[in-house]
Amino acid sequence: MSENAKFFLPGPVYVRDEIKEAMKGATIGHRSKEFSVLYEKIVKGVAEILHTEGRIYLSSSTATGLMEAAVRNVIKKSSLHLICGSFGQLWYNIAKSCGKDAVPLEVEWGKAIKPEAVRSALAEGNFDTVCITHNETSTGVMNPLKEISDVVKEFDDVALIVDAVSSMAGIDIPVDEWGLDVCLASVQKAWALPPGFSIASVSDRALERSKSAQNKGFYFDFESFEKYHLRSQTISTASTPHMYALSKQIDDMLAAGMENRYEKIIRMAERVREWAEENFGLFAEEGYLSATVTCVKNTKNIDVASLLNILSGKGYVIGDGYGKLKGETFRIAHMGDLNMNDIEMLLETIDETIMEMG
Ligand code: PLP
Repeated sequence: MSENAKFFLPGPVYVRDEIKEAMKGATIGHRSKEFSVLYEKIVKGVAEILHTEGRIYLSSSTATGLMEAAVRNVIKKSSLHLICGSFGQLWYNIAKSCGKDAVPLEVEWGKAIKPEAVRSALAEGNFDTVCITHNETSTGVMNPLKEISDVVKEFDDVALIVDAVSSMAGIDIPVDEWGLDVCLASVQKAWALPPGFSIASVSDRALERSKSAQNKGFYFDFESFEKYHLRSQTISTASTPHMYALSKQIDDMLAAGMENRYEKIIRMAERVREWAEENFGLFAEEGYLSATVTCVKNTKNIDVASLLNILSGKGYVIGDGYGKLKGETFRIAHMGDLNMNDIEMLLETIDETIMEMG
């Protein structure tokens, strides 16, 4: 792989030099005044981006940790899991492993979860929480979160917890308006930082439920998060390099305007989809195509492993099909700090490589 390889993986994504530079900020203690200033700036920025008046927690873990936190703190007994790919399955597996009465509502991979199906499942079952993957990174499906959140609101005291790992900061998510109890993400996706840090918005209801949750563990206890959050601190030592990077990214994103960032991402998505349809096919259902990652259906039955290998030699890294979709699909991310020029160069290089492969 060349040194200047551009990453089009659906995470971790390409990180620009200015972000790497920002990570070199001075080492500070997590109980210092400087830390609290940095913390406050970040939570204010994230809250602005998510349009929420609620609290933002920061975690020096990847998102899987916060998924487990959401499960342990918010699900009282029984959760409905909307599964349309690998990451929906992950939510379900986490809930099961935490002893919750987790029930899957699964659709064929490549399809989206429809609001009517959620309404029927909620009407039939006795669920206190719905777990959804907003953007299913494994299939390139973006589920209709707003419409599903409207359905969840029809039911009394059902919490909605959202894995927005590969959509947050890539598409607008108005957390309060949609009534999301937890909305979480890792930073190595649309936030375009190196991996190892994650973010969650947490509603009053989610925090309230935490107070009576049993066996919620220590490290991911929302009550402890809140206690330290009120002091503008984290529970334990935080990854300050990530916090410097996040602070820089928030400054740059807000200065450029989130609307412009979202528009850029959609334009890149449209270009990749157009290319995929001309040359292969799209794996995801029409009408539910992800803004941040396109899952290309390998209709020409090319050797995906060889394609990825040759591309990597040329300095371009794209994603293989995920899990059972390996070889059958491949994935191109169009989020974060990539731009249209990068996408055009990638697509040209893929075309050229496929010609060479014969
Ligand atoms: N959820 C989704 C939709 C993802 O794409 C991923 C990772 O790719 C995860 C959850 C797990 O995130 P992490 O690896 O940051 O824990």
